[in-house]
Amino acid sequence: SAADSQAFSLAVIPGDGIGPEVIAEAVKVLRAAVAGGAAGFELAEHKLGAEHWLATGETLPDETLARLRAHNAILFGAVGAAPGDARIPSGLIEREMLLKLRFSLDHYVNLRPAKLFQGVPSPLASPGEVDFVVVREGTEGPYVGNGGALREGTPHEIATEVSINTAHGVERVVRGAFRRARARRRKLTLVHKHTVLVHAGHLWRRTVEAVGQEFPDVAVDYLHIDAATIFMVTDPARFDVIVTDNLFGDIITDLAAAVTGGIGLAASGNINMDRTAPSMFEPVHGPAPDIAGQQKAAPTAAILSVALMLDHLGLAEAAARVQEAVEKDIAGRGTAARATAEIGDAIASLL
Ligand code: ATP
Ligand code: MG
Repeated sequence: SAADSQAFSLAVIPGDGIGPEVIAEAVKVLRAAVAGGAAGFELAEHKLGAEHWLATGETLPDETLARLRAHNAILFGAVGAAPGDARIPSGLIEREMLLKLRFSLDHYVNLRPAKLFQGVPSPLASPGEVDFVVVREGTEGPYVGNGGALREGTPHEIATEVSINTAHGVERVVRGAFRRARARRRKLTLVHKHTVLVHAGHLWRRTVEAVGQEFPDVAVDYLHIDAATIFMVTDPARFDVIVTDNLFGDIITDLAAAVTGGIGLAASGNINMDRTAPSMFEPVHGPAPDIAGQQKAAPTAAILSVALMLDHLGLAEAAARVQEAVEKDIAGRGTAARATAEIGDAIASLL
C-alpha cells in the first residue's frame, strides 16, 4: 500500500524511572517489525520529565513543543517524580508537561485496549473472553482546571472543579468510538451517570443517539459508571467498545488493566483523530522508581503501544505482527519475571 513505502519521523521521549528501559525494548521491537519492509522510521530523542526539570528547570518549552509537532508520532515512556521527592513540586510535571502536551496536540481520544491474553492469570473467577477497548475523552471533563477555592483554609471553604463537556468535544470522541466499534464487534457502550450528572449526561446520551444514526450497524448500550465497574468484573465479555468522559475513563481504564493482567501489559494511545498534530503512544504505567534501573520492568505495555502506533500510522500489517509476537511470547513464557531486555529480545526475535 501507499503507507508501506513511507518514511516516518518518530519523536521518542524515554522520560523518567523505568521509562528509558521499557522504551529501549519498544524501539528494538519497532526496528524488528519494520526491518526489510518499505516503511522506514527516523527516530529523534527528546529529553523531558522530572530529571530533565531538575537539570534544566524546563517542563515543556514552546520550542520543544514545536519540534515535537513536526514528527509523525510520539513514543513516550513515563515521566514524574518519585513519591516524596521534595525537590519537585507536586503535580508540576503532570500539569506543565503532560497536560500541556495533551491539550496542545489536541489528543482528544485516549485509547486503551483491554485484552486478556492466553497465559496471563486474571483475578476474575470466570474471565471468559475479555477483549474490549475504552475510548476515553482526553481534553475535557473535570480535568480542564476550571474551578477554584473560596474562603480557602477556613471551615467554610468552597472548592469547585467544573466538568466541561462541549458539543464539539463530545461529538468527535463519540464518532471516533463508533468508528472503532465498526472495525471490531460492532457494539458500543456509553458509560456515564446521567441520572445524577444530568446536564453533561444528557449531552453525551443525545450525542450517542445522534451520531449513532450514521452507524446503524453498531449496537448501542448504556451503563451507569457504577454498574459498569460491576460488569467489568462479573461479565467483561459483554464489552466491545466503551466510550466515556475523562474522569470515568481514567478510573475504568485502570480497572480494565487490572482485570486483564495488570499494568505491565496495558498500552495506550493519546490520539488526535483529525491528524492535525502527532498522536502519542505510551504504556499506561508510570515511572515506577521502586524498580527503575534494575531491568525488572515489563516492557510489554510499551511494546504493545508500538503496535497501536503502527496501526494509527496505517501500518496495520506490522501492527498485527507486533501484537501476535507479544501474544506468542506471553503464551509461551507466561508472566514469570524476566529481565526487561530479555523480554524485548524474545519478542524482537519472534518478528
Ligand atoms: P504514576 O505516578 O503514573 O501512578 P507510578 O510510578 O506510581 O506512576 P504505577 O504505574 O502506578 O507507577 O505503578 C505502580 C507500581 O507497579 C510500580 O511502583 C511498580 O512497582 C509496578 N510497575 C509499574 N509498571 C511496571 C512494569 N512495566 N513492570 C513491572 N512492574 C511495574
Ligand atoms: Mg501510581
